Amino acid sequence: MSFESLGLSGKLLRAIADEGYETPTPIQAEAIPAVLAGHDLLASAQTGTGKTASFTLPILERLNQTKPARNRRIRALVLTPTRELAAQVEASIKTYGKYMPLRIASIYGGTRMGPQIARLRKGVDVLVATPGRLLDHLGQGTADLAAVETLVLDEADRMLDMGFIHDIRKIIEHTRSDRQTLLFSATFSRQIRKLADDLLDNPKVIEV
Ligand code: AMP
Repeated sequence: MSFESLGLSGKLLRAIADEGYETPTPIQAEAIPAVLAGHDLLASAQTGTGKTASFTLPILERLNQTKPARNRRIRALVLTPTRELAAQVEASIKTYGKYMPLRIASIYGGTRMGPQIARLRKGVDVLVATPGRLLDHLGQGTADLAAVETLVLDEADRMLDMGFIHDIRKIIEHTRSDRQTLLFSATFSRQIRKLADDLLDNPKVIEV
């Protein structure tokens, strides 16, 4: 099994080789072709399984293959429970996307709105965000999710534990109903299954 055989192309393969990865992890082998094919995903995966690359690589591949309908609009959104995870995911996306002309940014609470507003105004293709701060931006019209093609909920069980369920649902109301949605969670509780039922359309289920 190789990254090439999963359907990833040159610019990503180079970035993957730079990281020294030789073979896809089990979740990558399952998730990458499914996301490339446009499926929704319900994946149970712990940190350390390679889950970040399992959603980032196919999202970058798809973004690189198609031109945006309009420039300067967010095309992929990753929601994370904490600012630490947001910063980590942003760094990973930048690493994998380093040979692509994509603009990647993160916004989270605990820092000033001003620089984030300036960043959003300049144009962002892939945004990583914590729910509360993103909702602040949506409320004051400084973020626009109408062009989001793919939405990722990373560590969804932690986001529910932290009380972000209402924020998440409000954020999703700002996205198109025909978006692709990927839900990652360490556990499949009843609450996660309910959220998955509401948000996902005929998802592929991956448990590693
Ligand atoms: P994650 O589960 O996304 O937090 O990733 C865990 C760690 O595995 C990160 O440090 C990645 O750089 C690394 N990693 C991800 N995919 C691979 C791979 N296919 N081969 C080797 N290391 C990987």
